[in-house]
Amino acid sequence: MKNFTYTRATSIKDAARRPEKSLLIAGGTNLVDRMKVFLDQPTQIIDISRLDLKKIENTGNGLRLGALVTNTQVADNLEVRKNYPILSRAILAGASQQIRNVATVGGNLMQRTRCPYYYDTAFGCNKRQPGSGCPAATGINRMHAILGASDTCIAVNPSDMCVALSALDAVVEVEGVKGRRQIPFSDFHRLPGNQPERDTTLGDNEIITAVILPANINAQSGVYLKLRDRASYSFALISVAAILDIDNNKVRNARIALGGVAHKPWRSKEAEQFLIGKSVDESVFQQAADLALRNAQPLEHNKFKVEMSKRAIRRALMVSAKGGGVA
Ligand code: SF4
Repeated sequence: MKNFTYTRATSIKDAARRPEKSLLIAGGTNLVDRMKVFLDQPTQIIDISRLDLKKIENTGNGLRLGALVTNTQVADNLEVRKNYPILSRAILAGASQQIRNVATVGGNLMQRTRCPYYYDTAFGCNKRQPGSGCPAATGINRMHAILGASDTCIAVNPSDMCVALSALDAVVEVEGVKGRRQIPFSDFHRLPGNQPERDTTLGDNEIITAVILPANINAQSGVYLKLRDRASYSFALISVAAILDIDNNKVRNARIALGGVAHKPWRSKEAEQFLIGKSVDESVFQQAADLALRNAQPLEHNKFKVEMSKRAIRRALMVSAKGGGVA
């Protein structure tokens, strides 16, 4: 690890005004890993962990999760568990207790891909160094994207929490030198396009201050289903967050988000629209799953993800239609 200076931000503006080549640290669960392998070599680390962003508040318009609330606090919060259970389940599926105790809401949104070539500086990597190539495209790409990838990058977003937040239509509140703004969750993370080095639409002089869960979203029947190589903590091969609102055996509203398949949490709007007004029926859910994966472009080693995603969507929808719970 290279030498760097350490300072503490005393205000949000202070953190947002950060100089070039400096990085913010909160829980540090991803940043420290990256610094150890020389992925990030900041000249200055700015500690934001003492800023006043640690509250969970019901604002009347929704539940506001401060950016420095820990993953444990979110997962254990009674209102989250009652009204947004997929968020709690996704967080509990995502990391060990020790990591959840220090990892923050904001940090979870900012974590970077776990593509092994990105972490290995012996290889080129367009995300790490634009223009240096994508060895995953012709290498081992079992964990990589099947939707929304580009010629420059086929990495996936590693977060579980963000898949649930996508399905919940959360809003990201950010603040910078030019003031405060809100970003719909589906616009916060980017597809790689020809700028894979940029994961999000956060401005260079902005920081995340909160994530807001909308009120009255009727998400109690939500299901989070994560499929991975081992039962213990590991990144998703694929995951599904599904929420059905059923009225008289007909689908009134549907929300489906996928993880482990794209550079961002992947919301399947086409499948959701298809489901509205349809009867609760496994064959209908199968058709929705087929639609969700209609444009999948699997790679040499991850063709299995297409069928796996379809089966997971069908199963998650079946469980949600019965009121939710563990799939
Ligand atoms: Fe780098 Fe993206 Fe290719 Fe992985 S998939 S090697 S992160 S460019």
